[in-house]
Amino acid sequence: MKGIIAVLPDHIANQIAAGEVIQRPASVVKELVENAIDAGATKIHINVKDAGRTLIQVSDDGKGMNKMDAEQCFLRHATSKIHSADDLFNLQTKGFRGEALASIASIAHVTLQTKEADKDTGTQILIEGNKIISNEEVVCNKGTNFEVKNLFYNVPARRNFLKSNEVEFRHIRDEFERIALAHPAISFILTNNDTEIYNLRSATLRKRIVDIIGDKQNERLVPIQEETSIVKISGFIIKPEFAKKTRGEQFFFVNNRFFKDAYFNNAVNKGFNNLIQPKTYPGYFIYFDIDPSKIDVNVHPTKTEIKFEEDRNIYMVLLSAIKEALGKYNISPTLDFEQEQSFDIPYDMLSKPVVQPHIKVNPYFNPFDEKPKTSSSTSQKHTALNKFGYGENKTTQQDWENFYNIDELEEKEENIQQVIDIEQEETKFDQFIIRLPYLFFPSKNGLMVIHSKRAFERIIYDEMMREFILHPIAAQTLLFPYEKEVSKGEEDVWMSQTTLLHRLGFESKIEKGMLILNAVPSVLEEEAINTCIDAILDNLSYSTVEKGEIAHILISNIAKSVGNSKVITDNKESITNLVETLFQCEDHSFTPNGKPILKTISLTDIKQLF
Ligand code: ADP
Ligand code: MG
Repeated sequence: MKGIIAVLPDHIANQIAAGEVIQRPASVVKELVENAIDAGATKIHINVKDAGRTLIQVSDDGKGMNKMDAEQCFLRHATSKIHSADDLFNLQTKGFRGEALASIASIAHVTLQTKEADKDTGTQILIEGNKIISNEEVVCNKGTNFEVKNLFYNVPARRNFLKSNEVEFRHIRDEFERIALAHPAISFILTNNDTEIYNLRSATLRKRIVDIIGDKQNERLVPIQEETSIVKISGFIIKPEFAKKTRGEQFFFVNNRFFKDAYFNNAVNKGFNNLIQPKTYPGYFIYFDIDPSKIDVNVHPTKTEIKFEEDRNIYMVLLSAIKEALGKYNISPTLDFEQEQSFDIPYDMLSKPVVQPHIKVNPYFNPFDEKPKTSSSTSQKHTALNKFGYGENKTTQQDWENFYNIDELEEKEENIQQVIDIEQEETKFDQFIIRLPYLFFPSKNGLMVIHSKRAFERIIYDEMMREFILHPIAAQTLLFPYEKEVSKGEEDVWMSQTTLLHRLGFESKIEKGMLILNAVPSVLEEEAINTCIDAILDNLSYSTVEKGEIAHILISNIAKSVGNSKVITDNKESITNLVETLFQCEDHSFTPNGKPILKTISLTDIKQLF
């Protein structure tokens, strides 16, 4: 008798499993790099083409495989990492399911070259859709080299589902950064279309973090350290005043594995309580070391969640570690403005009775974004926006006005007349000393210091953001077009944002690797164009930008360049005007990127100097 049930052939079962394990090129990068780490590599080179669509190559100097293992590794549930279910409770490796290579081989063309250190020759295997095409003995380097080509060649639905190369590459970068941050001792190189994106040498943790998030961040890192019988916590947090408007710099690792955890994230937020601006997120790189039997990583092949047996206790340890780190850092305040250390001061300022305009701008709003970013603070407005067909890209003037709530704008016009009540501020803004870029104002309780260029930056940002949301920004045509040589990658990022850039006042074209600007936003002085373009290209190419953030990034770069190029004259009227306009900005204490604009030095601080 013939039944209707059939056991699926291996290659189909593998393809189904692949759907879970390999969702996009970044998943392949993650699996191959994790295998290289498990193989004891000290140097790992990741080379991708077209964000992994055409090629993902990962080579390592790890222990390699012998001929038999090289064939076996592509079989489903073929793993050298666990031998019994009990081993799952004592995992020291990244992989353990034996699913990754079988999955990858079922949906791509794969070449494997591998050689053990003590052998003269290695093995080269070509495998396509789980079928071994060739298997030969070759001369090759010690270690393992995987080349994965034509990903999803036989799963068109998946292939079509992939996003633009930029987005896919950003996912690769995210995975790369998570792994590199978890393994500072390993050297990593990441190249995309022959451009080197990262070349990270073996380093201390602090150096590795700085290599990834930028040199300037070094002085912003505060170490955290706590050791108890249940968990050891180490790593760094970013000083509260540099908290960002996005969650980009939040990393938890357990036993060198990246994970996400809302509950522990809450502990960090609680530790930072009151020290950071509303709607900003603290930055952290926190490493938990814990007995592997006390955690369960066996949740889902691609999920980044991990179950902790003693999560409540760990929460408390984490909270106290954060508080202690912040406390230690706070007991040694300095008056060195460049160091920007006394993070508690701006909050005194915020509680002062300054008349604030009621206008609110959502800096993350991008009118060209197909999917408005939902965050708790903006989702309501986005919902309103969707109602009038925003999602279909039919944004009319009326839409903008509705979105922006034009009544609020009118209210603002009235407020301008009121300006700030200087008496209440108890700071005399008509008496000042200029030591550029600082402006010093005596106040009843001490001295207020304003960073003039940053004040301009904030003012320009707010003005441009307001204008931009309502209508295209005024452009000035350049007498002589500005020209700049750009790389292919830069050309791509620039071209991907032309509509937005045009709305901001840039009239541009790219010809033979040259970016040519015929017009720029009218606020931008000619001598500031170059730095502004550099910053825009840099930020768009090298940071993990969410779509909804692009307008914020572009405008904050323009504002910064304008602020930096502003000439500040020793003229009472213009200084008073600057300060008054600054105080009309809702976030007058910080630049759009979270740098402090003003500080007060209290009489107590001054007393301590003597
Ligand atoms: P898992 O990592 O879960 O064991 P994979 O399918 O990722 O499953 O890999 C299967 C096996 O192939 C591994 O257990 C390991 O023995 C071997 N292997 C994979 N990549 C490498 C590598 N880069 N170097 C040495 N051995 C490797
Ligand atoms: Mg693996």
